[in-house]
Amino acid sequence: MNLKEIIREIPDYPVKGISFKDITTLLKDPSAFNEVVNQVHENFKNKGITKIVSLESRGFIVGGAAAYLLNAGFVPIRKKGKLPAETVAESYELEYGSDTIEIHKDALTEDDIVLIHDDLLATGGTALAALNLVEKMNVKKVYFSFICDLKFIENGKKEVLSNYETHTLVE
Ligand code: AMP
Repeated sequence: MNLKEIIREIPDYPVKGISFKDITTLLKDPSAFNEVVNQVHENFKNKGITKIVSLESRGFIVGGAAAYLLNAGFVPIRKKGKLPAETVAESYELEYGSDTIEIHKDALTEDDIVLIHDDLLATGGTALAALNLVEKMNVKKVYFSFICDLKFIENGKKEVLSNYETHTLVE
């Protein structure tokens, strides 16, 4: 199945010059959605993943389904002010703008083997901020999973992330 063709591209969204990769066309296709979740499960089923940490909001969809298949817990990372209990926060630069994300302080423990999942890796800023949050909890090990990686963007953040085992479906 050609997942790349199923992901819709929206030129100049949300700002001029950005080609937005719209995964809703993949999510609404039952066999494409199934294939993506199954591939994440297949790749990580022997890694002892205890928690999937996903990013608001597009990361939640495949992250939640994969957590179910992997028999792992699900932990949301959300934009500042959205999580109700005590949080830790991290600010970061986006491909378009900047943001602060948070995780519940008691969401992870030293025994956790974590898979951080998001829909797309662009500059790596979001993924690196998520890594910084997760590492504050001294977890055992961290893996990454993305549906898409915009490979043409290369920078120091992505070099840091390349030290972690990562599974990507579409480049
Ligand atoms: P970055 O922090 O630059 O790696 O950007 C990744 C985050 O921003 C992900 O949560 C994506 O959902 C979103 N994002 C950034 N660029 C795009 C794009 N071109 N198409 C779709 N989503 C994007």
